[in-house]
Amino acid sequence: MAEILDGKALANTLSEEIKEKVKAMSSNGIKPHFCVINIGDDPASKVYVRAKKRRAEKLGIDQEIFQLPAETTEEEALALIQKLNNDPQINGVMVQLPVPNHINSDHLIEAINPEKDVDALTAANVGRLWQGTHFVKPATACGIIDLLDHYQISLDGKRAVIIGRSNIVGKPLAALLLERNATVTLAHSHTKNLTELTKQADILVAAVGKAKLVTADMVKEGAVVIDVGINRIDGHLVGDVDFDNVKKRASYITPVPGGVGPLTVESLMQQVVALTRRQNGKS
Ligand code: NAD
Repeated sequence: MAEILDGKALANTLSEEIKEKVKAMSSNGIKPHFCVINIGDDPASKVYVRAKKRRAEKLGIDQEIFQLPAETTEEEALALIQKLNNDPQINGVMVQLPVPNHINSDHLIEAINPEKDVDALTAANVGRLWQGTHFVKPATACGIIDLLDHYQISLDGKRAVIIGRSNIVGKPLAALLLERNATVTLAHSHTKNLTELTKQADILVAAVGKAKLVTADMVKEGAVVIDVGINRIDGHLVGDVDFDNVKKRASYITPVPGGVGPLTVESLMQQVVALTRRQNGKS
């Protein structure tokens, strides 16, 4: 039976570390300040944005929400990003996705100053991620590596299979696992014979958004299974993994909720602190 990878407990520990760092900065007169731009009325986005604000407040980080109406034009959103880029009081900027269809989210992300790019999604920061010269990391991928490290799960030489190739989860996680000498395969909606690949995985990550996509027969005995998916079924949150059956085969597994999710928010705050330190000449 698999050991549970308790993301919530680790998030609480990390939170204490971040609080200490923020306190140390404040004694030097520095307070991290980051801005989230949320355009339109997506109900899930509003929940996420509020959750981030609550978390930031607990850690002593200033978070400002710019809630813009759904009719906001791309030009107006770009003008706001420029204003925030140019404001020396602001250390981090992010655009909550998704944005309304008439706005190209790539244009907004690319307009963010890479030095303030909390989500690490600009081309410059994606390039640095793959070069191994990054100073900011995408939060979810960073949280997953922290969780594996916390449980001392070695990655060197391990075969990692990630299902899902999005810019926010699958691709950055592939870069970070590669950096740690794992042999990485990215699977996606066009992948053929998915089970053939997943059965070889020492580390199996599901980041798709389909409940019970990963069943026990797809998992190698003793594998480490990381479930990134968030699906709402009959009012309950479930991941992409058939947890009850897969946990009988895996050596470690993340629950949903309480696994990757809480770490993502914590990791985001770590990125805000890292960018603030960097802007203030601290490594
Ligand atoms: P996305 O929709 O951008 O990407 C989904 C990926 O899954 C795509 O690469 C697609 O090719 C692949 N895919 C779709 N169907 C597939 C199939 N049948 N077989 C194999 N691959 C398939 O999603 P995303 O933004 O990367 O998010 C993925 C999931 O993770 C969602 O449920 C999202 O809510 C969740 N998520 C959780 C956190 C967290 O903190 N826990 C953070 C980000 C995203």
